[in-house]
Amino acid sequence: MRIAIIGAGAMGGLLGFYLADQVDLILVDPWMEHVDAINRTGLICEHDGSIEVRTPRAVTDPALAAPADLALVLVKAAQTPWAARACQAVLAADGIAYTLQNGLGHREILAELLGERRTGQGVTALGATLLGPGHIRHAGMGPTLLGADPDPGRAALLCDLLNRGGLPASVSHSIESLVWGKLLVNVGINALTALLRLPNGAVATNPTVRALAAAAVTEAATIAQAHGVQLPYHDAVAHMVAVAEATATNRSSMLQDLLRGAPTEIAAINGAIVREGALLELPTPINTTLSRLIEALETTTDQRI
Ligand code: NAD
Repeated sequence: MRIAIIGAGAMGGLLGFYLADQVDLILVDPWMEHVDAINRTGLICEHDGSIEVRTPRAVTDPALAAPADLALVLVKAAQTPWAARACQAVLAADGIAYTLQNGLGHREILAELLGERRTGQGVTALGATLLGPGHIRHAGMGPTLLGADPDPGRAALLCDLLNRGGLPASVSHSIESLVWGKLLVNVGINALTALLRLPNGAVATNPTVRALAAAAVTEAATIAQAHGVQLPYHDAVAHMVAVAEATATNRSSMLQDLLRGAPTEIAAINGAIVREGALLELPTPINTTLSRLIEALETTTDQRI
């Protein structure tokens, strides 16, 4: 059994680190310096004050990782079309790609090239940070859930490998609910913390920020309901605030992306709510405004005063 990780940044690197000793594993990443560092000195992972090195093989050319039985897609949203082409090059004829990315729309992009029956979806509550080429930090532990669709057997096998590597993972029969459940948290926290340059905790403690985040989440919860999605909690705003409190000192991924001038995942998060709203003919003024503000920030970096 061979697994290829497509996008071996913070999260792809983390999963690769824990799977490296369990299975024939190859990391596929377009960042040459990162790939060279992994092949030269190994993948370094910091966790709770300890440092460990493992030595998965890494390549920049997806064709060199073929034929893989499973591909785990962990690029940022803007790179998903590249990841779909990489999966096509990497996977065996019956190979399956699983996306564990945040937001909506990734599975559909993969399915356009690979077909519905060769794409699956999951969510992870793990946290990871990329510290530099070949160097990651395991920042948070939490379960990884893989959708039973399209191949429950292979999803179970992957969960077993993750468990043996030390990461909690299980197969879920309600993955759409979990994907939307995580999406709504990101809808509330990511764009606002990025726009305001605040740690996550401010979403819970500052009344104005909290009210804005609650409005964005309420709007998204209406869209989820109209879409027929049953969220994995009763009160979407309370859940989002609880996550902001539990991760109070964290910088959201969108804030980190903006600070380093990288494209954000806004189109897959608040932008996805706007797109779904348009399809359902429901208004999404808050998420539209948040999306446009982030897009404006992304495209004016060199004009900033
Ligand atoms: P990441 O930015 O660490 O890596 C994504 C890609 O960007 C990789 O191909 C990486 O090599 C490349 N990259 C990163 N820094 C670079 C640099 N300086 N120069 C050139 N290339 C660079 O992204 P991530 O945090 O691993 O996120 C991947 C997906 O997983 C996203 O959809 C994210 O939302 C999701 N996710 C992340 C976490 C987390 O804690 N990191 C948790 C859950 C879900």
